[in-house]
Amino acid sequence: MVVLLKSGTKAEQIENLKSWLQGMNIGTYISEGTSHTIIGLVGDTSMVDMDLLRSLDIVENVQRIQEPFKNANRKFHNEDLVVDINGIKIGGGNFQIIAGPCSVESREQIIEVAGRVKAAGANLLRGGAFKPRTSPYAFQGMGSDGLDLLMEAKKETGMPIVTEIMNAVHLPLFENVDVIQVGARNMQNFEMLKELGKTDKVILLKRGLANTIDEWLMSAEYIMAGGNQNIILCERGIRTFETRTRNTLDLGAIPVVKKLTHLPIVVDPSHALGYSYMVEPMAIAATAAGADGLMIEVHNNPAKALCDGPQSLTPDAFDELSKAVYAVRPFAAKYEY
Ligand code: PEP
Ligand code: MN
Repeated sequence: MVVLLKSGTKAEQIENLKSWLQGMNIGTYISEGTSHTIIGLVGDTSMVDMDLLRSLDIVENVQRIQEPFKNANRKFHNEDLVVDINGIKIGGGNFQIIAGPCSVESREQIIEVAGRVKAAGANLLRGGAFKPRTSPYAFQGMGSDGLDLLMEAKKETGMPIVTEIMNAVHLPLFENVDVIQVGARNMQNFEMLKELGKTDKVILLKRGLANTIDEWLMSAEYIMAGGNQNIILCERGIRTFETRTRNTLDLGAIPVVKKLTHLPIVVDPSHALGYSYMVEPMAIAATAAGADGLMIEVHNNPAKALCDGPQSLTPDAFDELSKAVYAVRPFAAKYEY
């Protein structure tokens, strides 16, 4: 349930309403917009008398929210969420490219790729240290040594780091990581989501391989229910009957997500398509459709990559992609709800 307050409502009146609701075991989430304040009610609202609420002289309107996600619901928030990563903003009209290798493999590799993608217009550096691999015999990532190398690359280039967590017990190792990625396979690792909800880290939440948009938003809700509101959603393709692409890129998710939530959405065409030649056209399409950013895999020698070589762009190909994307960006679809 959301309560829209009349403009000019005083802080003291809001406090009174909050404590009255608290008396009924209802939590509140206050969203202050430029003209109106919205109070989101969290908890079992079945006992709340909507007519009584509506009759209060500070209340303009009351609306029940059907969707099970409350914190992540656009109806709770007047404005798009702008996530700020050391001054680099995503959402609310701010667009960023996250680029880098699938996995950190060596100092030379990560430093070289970081320098190249930064020069080409990426503002955040990605690189996996803990890798979720289908086979237990495949390269599993460099672990904490990989995180150390990412920190070196950050020092060298000034780029904030985006890297995946696979187990909440590793959280202390992620202290200096700027954006913690929850990979597709862990989107419904609810215990880990709860732990991430207790942190103040920016979380990049990838959509699961076989998850609906509503399930994805419920996973965001797990993190937000713990108090952490800093979430960026990432569409990375879903599994369908098609075999010519690694997954099927669901670009329709962009307008749907924009309508349902205030959280920013970035698109990862690398994991969605699986082949480097398809990455640039779909990066352009995602940008045109109004994504708040892109995540692109780039490797200095894709043929030798220890993970996801076929979908990785060379730095030169990333230069081209970046130029095309920034040329399209001014014409991107805009959404207002
Ligand atoms: C990745 O970003 O390297 C990754 C493993 O992605 P996903 O979880 O989307 O497969
Ligand atoms: Mn990868």
